[in-house]
Amino acid sequence: MGVLMAVVAHPDDEAFGMGGTLARYAAEGHVVYVVSATRGEAGQIAGEVAAPANLPVVRERELGCACRAYGARPPMFLDYLDGQLPIVHQGQAVGKLVRLIRELRPDVIITFGPDGVYGHYDHIAVHRWATIAYTLANDPDCFPGQLDEVCQPHQVHKLYYQVLLEEELEEWRAQGQEPVVMMDDVPFPMVGWKRSDISTVIDIRAYAEAKRAGLLCHRSQISDASEWTGEEALASSMFREEVYVLARSTVERPDGVEDDLFRGLGRNHGDRTEGCRRPPTRP
Ligand SMILES: [Zn+2]
Repeated sequence: MGVLMAVVAHPDDEAFGMGGTLARYAAEGHVVYVVSATRGEAGQIAGEVAAPANLPVVRERELGCACRAYGARPPMFLDYLDGQLPIVHQGQAVGKLVRLIRELRPDVIITFGPDGVYGHYDHIAVHRWATIAYTLANDPDCFPGQLDEVCQPHQVHKLYYQVLLEEELEEWRAQGQEPVVMMDDVPFPMVGWKRSDISTVIDIRAYAEAKRAGLLCHRSQISDASEWTGEEALASSMFREEVYVLARSTVERPDGVEDDLFRGLGRNHGDRTEGCRRPPTRP
């Protein structure tokens, strides 16, 4: 089976737009990894489940809880600080990701689109890093020091951007909810994509419960859990489908909309030999 890697900026980034996808591919027998650039230490705290001093530890645990709910491997972290990704040395961050790609040898990577879902500067930085790392991981001239440690170059087959559908945002507006995220007291509008621009729709209805369980793990980020536990929530499009744009691919692109991130890769895709002698970086 294959290997799927999600690359995000903060614990809980995976929950809203990718949780069902992660659960589906884990259930189908693929190895699923979640890599988070930070431990979400700058975010607001909902309720009293954490304090600023222990927030990174709490959020690391919450992402671990969510990964268990999806059936993914324990999460990995790039060890950067929340809110500071745009000023991180890009070459260093890409090097860390390339190293992880060479170790874990994913067939498919999912990450944010160029809009960062709602323009979050950390998301946009991660989008850039993952997009660059997709190409560089297979280039033996890039980060050759890693190859001395018996890391082999690795070609990821596909890179997908997770995005939101404009029609989903319309659904929110119809319910009187403005699709914006408050950041530093500034409302950042969520970015909706036209359905005609979507390449891939993942049906997650069978994994709605796993997605919800993952979401509820992020207790320090959820002010009102009841929002996600009612029948109404489960009936919303968030628990029906997750949508992606195929950004890079080593296999031919589909004519129409595809329903599988591993489409075209065959059953024996990827080589499962370990790329690096040392075990993957863990927190
Ligand atoms: Zn985020």
